[in-house]
Amino acid sequence: MTSKTLKNVRPMGAPATDLHIVEGRFSTAAAEGAEVIDCGGRILIPGLIEAHTHLDKSLLGLPWYRNEVGPRLIDKINNERKVKVSLGLDPRVQSERHAILAISKGCTHIRSHVDVDTHHRLAGVEGVMATREKLAGLIDIEIVAFPQSGMMTRPGTAELMDEALAMGAELVGGIDPCGMEHDPKGHLDTVFALAEKHGKPVDIHLHEQDALGWFSMEEIIDRTVALGMQGKVAISHAFCLGAVDRAYVARLHEKLAENRIHILTTAPASAPVPLVKELHAHGILTGAGCDGIRDTWGPYGNSDMLEKAMHIGMRNNLRRDDEVELALEICTSGGAAIMEIEGYGLDVGCRADCVLVEGETLAEAVVTHAPRKLVFKSGEITARDGTCVIEAP
Ligand SMILES: [Zn+2]
Repeated sequence: MTSKTLKNVRPMGAPATDLHIVEGRFSTAAAEGAEVIDCGGRILIPGLIEAHTHLDKSLLGLPWYRNEVGPRLIDKINNERKVKVSLGLDPRVQSERHAILAISKGCTHIRSHVDVDTHHRLAGVEGVMATREKLAGLIDIEIVAFPQSGMMTRPGTAELMDEALAMGAELVGGIDPCGMEHDPKGHLDTVFALAEKHGKPVDIHLHEQDALGWFSMEEIIDRTVALGMQGKVAISHAFCLGAVDRAYVARLHEKLAENRIHILTTAPASAPVPLVKELHAHGILTGAGCDGIRDTWGPYGNSDMLEKAMHIGMRNNLRRDDEVELALEICTSGGAAIMEIEGYGLDVGCRADCVLVEGETLAEAVVTHAPRKLVFKSGEITARDGTCVIEAP
């Protein structure tokens, strides 16, 4: 592992200084013969954390997909299962393309939900695992076994989820226990039984809004308490926390905080979103992700977590610099804390996973999200001027 000195660099926008990297970690002093990189006074931030995406299903690199999918969640789910066959989608290739794009944007860690269903079985998990191995050293990838098409509605899926977890998926996923599964008890009991059996954390997609979402969330909280899984459960999307009835939501915030249940927001324009300042005020760990990008669900997304910080700002009416910095914190240290990433940050001793960004201040870096000058993973350069050091397949 090479050693480096980053000269004339501004950690988190602080005055310019020199930072030393020795054997992949920040160090107090330079190693002899260290490579010197002039950072030109640019801001250094820790690696961007993509804490909610779907690596197995983007259509990157394929001809444009003409989207004529129906409006309901189930329309998108059923369409996708079919289209994966007609397009011959290879989760190994697609996940590599997607992860390389993420690296080019300054991402150093990804949590990816990966479909497990009775049609495609474990092909997605195997494909993303192959990419994870291939890109080791460039980016860390964490896999959530995700029953996208339901477990209660598709018998045999729970057994495949069990296999995925035995194969090495790190987390148990879940999806709308009421709206999608029509069986909240069955779905959540299965999710938490798998978590207990494998000793793995949980990250559940919860799109349900208002009272339906509150009900499911309370069922998730109850099971978290019953199994002593405080700190090991995350709820993705959590649109029901963006509901109009703030008094009810405030009680939920208290319960989430008390049981250290984390929230992962994707800050979409199309649904109510959890209000990140309220989550922050309650001490609820919050991370973020781009969700699926360029897939059969929708044509948008480019895997840029600096741009996602801007979306969080726009959806939450964050205008002050300290508020925009909160959005960036969610896309960096918030996600890192939820994913329990060891040695994250810019302090001495931390792993040198970091990004040189353009801008006078952190807020300007977020709103302009210009191409990243340099991206480092354990002190090695993984992208320059917005391009990953390896080519996508
Ligand atoms: Zn998702």
